[in-house]
Formats: sequence, C-alpha cells, structure tokens
Amino acid sequence: MSVRRRLLRLLPGALVLGLVMAGMTAISPTHEAAADSCYTWNRTLSKGDSGSDVTVLQVRVSGWAGYGDPIAVDGIFGSETEAAVKRFQNGYGLTVDGIAGPETYDQIYALQDSDCTPAHFSWSEFDSPDCNCFSGGNTSTEQVKENVLLTMWKLEAKRHKLGDKPLYVSSGFRSVAYNDSVGGAPNSKHTYGLAADLTGSPGLCTLARAGRYAGFNGIIGPGAPNHDDHVHLDTRSSRYWNAPSCF
Ligand SMILES: [Zn+2]
Repeated sequence: MSVRRRLLRLLPGALVLGLVMAGMTAISPTHEAAADSCYTWNRTLSKGDSGSDVTVLQVRVSGWAGYGDPIAVDGIFGSETEAAVKRFQNGYGLTVDGIAGPETYDQIYALQDSDCTPAHFSWSEFDSPDCNCFSGGNTSTEQVKENVLLTMWKLEAKRHKLGDKPLYVSSGFRSVAYNDSVGGAPNSKHTYGLAADLTGSPGLCTLARAGRYAGFNGIIGPGAPNHDDHVHLDTRSSRYWNAPSCF
C-alpha cells in the first residue's frame, strides 16, 4: 500500500475526495471569471499596470469618464482609468475598489458579445450606408473598427446611466464618399468611426447633456446649425461642445 493510500484510509471521506480531486485538477479560486469569446483577461489590473490588456479595459470603461474628461486609451492604468473603473463598478453595483479583477471582468463579459460589441449595439448600426462596410474612411479599416468599438462602449455606458433606455444611432461610420454625399464636414469624425449621431428618445438635450459624462468631448446638438433633429457625439483631442439650446 502506498503512503498516499494509507493516508487516505485515515481521513474522513469528504476530505479524501477533496484531496483526490486536488490531485487531479487545479483547485479553483472561489471566484474566477469565466473565459469570454471576445477577450479574456488573465490578470488583475490596477493603477500602475500597463499593457495591451489595459488598453482593452480602457475601451470598455471609456464611457465612465469624468465630466468633460475622456480617459486616454493608451495602455497605461493611471488615475483616470482607476476613477473610470470605480464609476463602472458603482454603476453596476459591484465592489468599488478601482481594481479590475474577476468581478469587474465578469460584468464586462456579461455586456460583451462574442464579436466584441457591447450588448446593446451592433456593427450593422455603425457601418457606412453606401457599402455596409468600414472601409473608404480617412483611416484604415482596422483603425475605423477600433474607433467604432470605442464609440459603442461609450454609448453603452451612457445608455446604462440614462436608465437602460434604448439609444437610436442615425449615423455612425461614413466612408469619405458617403460623407461627401450627405454634406458632412470634410474631415468629419464620422469618417474615422469616432462619431455617432443620436436621435429621438430620451430627448435630444438629455442625450447632449449626458454625453459630457460619457467621454465625448465633441458634442453638437440643438441650437447649433443643422443639429435640431439629432445630437452628434464624437471623440476628439480637445473639447468642442455646442448645444446652446441645452447647456
Ligand atoms: Zn454627426
């Protein structure tokens, strides 16, 4: 009889089973985030960390920026990212510690479709109407899609903060040709995938105001020329807010 078998004979059944199982498989932590078909983080992230996994996280929490203060999507987990993670955690009723761990990842996985879009937005809502594609813009198709994803995640946060109200996207990415045909500004953020136009419920001024808390530093809405029937939201390097009928 082996030492191991002799040991097992001396132990209560439940513990024996535990030991046998421990010998067969790794012991699972009490709370381990499940793998996700879009992206799976394999470490906890907190202030001071950097890497491509931080970048993916930053996109997911980009709509939880502070008022008028979009977070940089730069792969460096600094104070702004930490604050955004805290707001995300608070927004979904999680433990608010600013640390992206299993609980936070599980919430993101729950929101994240297998094609990496957030739960309430889809690629088809954002493609250019002339080609149903993401090419022909002012940057590469790959970059356009990254930008569109960022725009979507900002809108997912905004939607949740507005009480899980559906948002209606009337224009997302535009090819340069399509943008020209509809009279868009020559270097419009739409041609980079960095803009979305919203219409209807829950009201244009509500949509414009909420954009200030969702990482959009480009907001053009009611009171601005040609913006009385939609709100334009975009990601740009410096703030341009123009919705004089709203704020
Ligand atoms: Zn627009």
